Amino acid sequence: MSEFHREDGVRRVGQVKEITSLANPIVKDIKALANKKAREESGTFIAEGLKLVIDAIELGWIIRTLIYAKAAKGKPVVEKVAAKTVASGGLVLEVSEKVMSSIVRRDNPQMVAGVFEQRWRPLAGLKPKKHETYVALDRVRDPGNLGTIIRTADAAGASGVVLVGECTDPFSVETVRATMGSVFAMPVSRASAEEFLAWRKGVDAQVVATHLAGSVDYRTVDYARKPTVLLMGNEQSGLPDDLAEKADTRVRIPQQGRADSLNLAVATAVMLYESRRHLLSLEGP
Ligand code: SAM
Repeated sequence: MSEFHREDGVRRVGQVKEITSLANPIVKDIKALANKKAREESGTFIAEGLKLVIDAIELGWIIRTLIYAKAAKGKPVVEKVAAKTVASGGLVLEVSEKVMSSIVRRDNPQMVAGVFEQRWRPLAGLKPKKHETYVALDRVRDPGNLGTIIRTADAAGASGVVLVGECTDPFSVETVRATMGSVFAMPVSRASAEEFLAWRKGVDAQVVATHLAGSVDYRTVDYARKPTVLLMGNEQSGLPDDLAEKADTRVRIPQQGRADSLNLAVATAVMLYESRRHLLSLEGP
């Protein structure tokens, strides 16, 4: 189709809209996804990078809009993603580098970005099975920490991340960036502290809470005994008593030196790799 017409400064060639104006309303809507409110209202988020977009589509995530910079035009792999986007009812935008920079809010932006539908795994449907590990995060605040934890959980073979209480948004630009694509592979659930406690009562899993006052060395727990939920505390205040007390075990990672505690993402990585040590090998699953 070689149809060509103008509307709101948009040039439409075939199925692709060309946009060069920062004032374009579609661009404004996409830029608004930097704000949590707009992400919640639309149920969407932005992911940057061609590989990420391809992986997400392959994993069945629904792409609403594919955005690519002019310089990526004609690249077979980009054309292929564009065709898939159109086939699934999405929109394809070819934008100037200036528009791309303003959408992803950085200079030298990636050539490709996608607006995807958010996906949450309902906690009620989660039934931990043998050899499964979940990470439950109490009020995680830092987007970089959450992204790193999602990435590490994916790498360590965990089955999901549960956000307990008021947490930072897993679909923010910073978190998605820090996940390096793992946000598309790692199911994320959310729950209030009460919902989390009600859920854990109904499932056959051991909850291992990490606490600076824990009396059990984290290396002495039998993680193979049952599916395990690693419960991690907030960056500033740690785990509140009502959550820590309801865990099956409260463990501590020994420390030497002057540091009061480990960074939350680091502590989660240590726990993930220890609790899954018997399941991980260089030969793969
Ligand atoms: N001031 C907070 C406190 O008193 O708990 C420090 C919180 S720490 C930065 C964030 C979380 O990382 C903790 O709630 C815990 O889940 C985990 N963590 C950090 N260092 C740990 C350690 N040595 N042993 C067990 N958990 C630890």
